[in-house]
Amino acid sequence: MNHSPAESYYAATANALPPFPAVTGEVRCDVCVIGGGYTGLSTAIHLRKRGYDVRVLEAHSVGWGASGRNGGHVGTGQRADQHTLERLVGMDHARQLWDLGLDAVNLVCELIDEFAIDCDLATGNLHVAHRQGDAAELQQEVEHLQQHYNYQQIRYVNKPELDEMSSAQGMHGGTLDLGARHLHPLNYCLGLARAAADLGASIHEHSRVLHYDEGERVRVHTESAVVDCGHLVLACNGYLGKLEKRVAGQIMPINNYMLATEPLGEDLAQRLIRDDTSMSDSRFVINYWKLSADRRLLFGGGESYTSRFPDDIRSFVRKYMLRIYPELADTRIDYGWGGTLAITLNRMPALGNASPRVFYGHGFSGHGVPIATLAGQLLAEAIAGTAERFDVMATVPSPKFPGGTLLRWPGLVAGMLYFALRDRLG
Ligand SMILES: Cc1cc2nc3c(=O)[nH]c(=O)nc-3n(C[C@H](O)[C@H](O)[C@H](O)COP(=O)(O)OP(=O)(O)OC[C@H]3O[C@@H](n4cnc5c(N)ncnc54)[C@H](O)[C@@H]3O)c2cc1C
Repeated sequence: MNHSPAESYYAATANALPPFPAVTGEVRCDVCVIGGGYTGLSTAIHLRKRGYDVRVLEAHSVGWGASGRNGGHVGTGQRADQHTLERLVGMDHARQLWDLGLDAVNLVCELIDEFAIDCDLATGNLHVAHRQGDAAELQQEVEHLQQHYNYQQIRYVNKPELDEMSSAQGMHGGTLDLGARHLHPLNYCLGLARAAADLGASIHEHSRVLHYDEGERVRVHTESAVVDCGHLVLACNGYLGKLEKRVAGQIMPINNYMLATEPLGEDLAQRLIRDDTSMSDSRFVINYWKLSADRRLLFGGGESYTSRFPDDIRSFVRKYMLRIYPELADTRIDYGWGGTLAITLNRMPALGNASPRVFYGHGFSGHGVPIATLAGQLLAEAIAGTAERFDVMATVPSPKFPGGTLLRWPGLVAGMLYFALRDRLG
């Protein structure tokens, strides 16, 4: 089992950041945040901007979780598409969710700019259809976004043009979204940590929260400390476990895997992705890929639903990559790693409060680079008493997985395997 991010390309190219001390003794603060990923660090940044005294407790080191291991795609909108959202919550609410999705991408760019975060920010996502029918759906989606959301940064790309933009095989058309961004996810996360610390937040690594008690305030226990706080924010996402049983059933942890090839050189890199956009496909178990700054292919594909990672992650992901780029058969794979994210039943994040003092944001369902960053800002707003934008997210239904935390596995795994099989059958 390899749960360590040390094997990742990102860890090998991480910007330096001094370690943060573990929390010890009995300390007090206004808000304690559990989790040093995008959600927790963005919460801390936005609370500090409002003058709150904040402590972030991270079990490992900042960026150890999904925030330091992901594909680095910063997509527009929400993980669920607008048609689905319109059916789920109605047109007006769906529009607000779309706008928040755009706010999220802007927020990522603003934070990078404001705190001079060095994380290889680049523009555009090319999303491609692996079936003819998916291409027609993508074309309709573009028209829908242009007409009903006045979103003009997306356009449909037909097969001949797509073939000029990428040597990806078996694609029937796609969408080019120039509102999307992509970046080096771990360096973005480390930059957020530095920003939060510079703003005065106390960050504590190697400080796993074991449990907490609620009274007039919340007392948060680690092995070596008690943090007494007015509010608690759970920003643990796929690693929440049973820490908060009232909401754990909303999310399901799943594992996703990535590889990084050797550096490819400019010519081959441009043949794979001409314009340095990120790319993704329309499979249920999505493949996603992009180039790194040093022109490796960073490719994500394949999932698993147990706590075990495959023994040989490089080979596990390579087979998905070769289906799309058979020309990379002789290319060396330098890194392979996995991470755990949390999904929800309707693929919309679950934001809310388990009690007046305990807030949470999780279940970003593979869209967390922008939305977890935004969630942190919304959580800070809600704690400060301005819940208008928070409520746009928090009022989206968050059904629990049937069977709760104990029995949610069998049904989910059967469902996931069914859709993965449909991918393979085309
Ligand atoms: C392989 C992979 C690829 C992905 N690709 C993309 C992508 O391209 N685009 C995109 O938008 N999203 C992607 N995602 C999803 C995205 O990474 C997540 O949605 C996002 O990082 C969630 O951030 P977070 O801060 O909520 O959680 P995390 O980054 O997982 O952070 C949670 C932290 O909480 C800590 N923690 C948990 N429990 C405790 C405790 N008891 N005490 C103290 N600390 C605790 C953990 O150690 C962890 O560091 C991907 C995810 C994976 C795994």
